Amino acid sequence: MKVHAIPCLSDNYSFVIEPSQECRGTPTQESQAWQAQTYDTQTASVLVVDACEAKPLMQFFEQHAFRPEVILTTHHHHDHVGANSELQRKFKCSVYARFPDSEQVPALSSRLDVEDTESFMTWRGIEIFALAIPGHTLGHTAYWFKNENTLFVGDTLFRFGCGRLFEGSYGQLFSSLKKLADLPDETTVYCGHEYALRNLDFCEKHKLIADGNTQRKKVEEQINSTGSSVPFLLSDQKQVNPFLTAKTVEDFTQLRKLRDRF
Ligand SMILES: [Zn+2]
Repeated sequence: MKVHAIPCLSDNYSFVIEPSQECRGTPTQESQAWQAQTYDTQTASVLVVDACEAKPLMQFFEQHAFRPEVILTTHHHHDHVGANSELQRKFKCSVYARFPDSEQVPALSSRLDVEDTESFMTWRGIEIFALAIPGHTLGHTAYWFKNENTLFVGDTLFRFGCGRLFEGSYGQLFSSLKKLADLPDETTVYCGHEYALRNLDFCEKHKLIADGNTQRKKVEEQINSTGSSVPFLLSDQKQVNPFLTAKTVEDFTQLRKLRDRF
């Protein structure tokens, strides 16, 4: 599969997942009826993680002859769901989110109610797991494409940082980050915002990172060549992200409060 990061709003990313060629001809069951009526060999079905803003997404779909089939929502914040209604109206795609965020997600089709350990959907040959990672919001969800070593974390984990605490407790957010850190080292992580350099400024200011210059160079090179600091490798963050290396919930709380004031 291929992941396209689409810049939206001021610093958000929507992710468009294009299945590998051999998986294109096997539509999911729920989309089959609709596809039978509108099947068009010129368009390819894609999946969207967080449909942030309609305009850039519609432009991208048009350019590539893509048709969104599924929208996976990480959490209910307006900058992550802004295009749900329009995309569903136009493409009849299915929108998924976990409770309680699901209650505030526009155009919801299915409320996720599954264990982390069971995949809730196989989309075009790709098995997808929904991991409950409360803290930023209570129903915040990470989508793990296990066999692809790919993880979508919304606003819970950022490069050199983590999401702000809005609805949950520090303990919840701390445990959620630990849950993500327990995933395999080779996991490629896609987060919801372009915050890497700002987070690095924070880490350097408070001497939380040993090789700030090297890290900055790496990020800048990636931004220069791809336009984005996303994705990044989980193994790297397990070493350098102070929010992932925090040993106790007390240390983590102190760190998060310090970042709130930065
Ligand atoms: Zn958010």
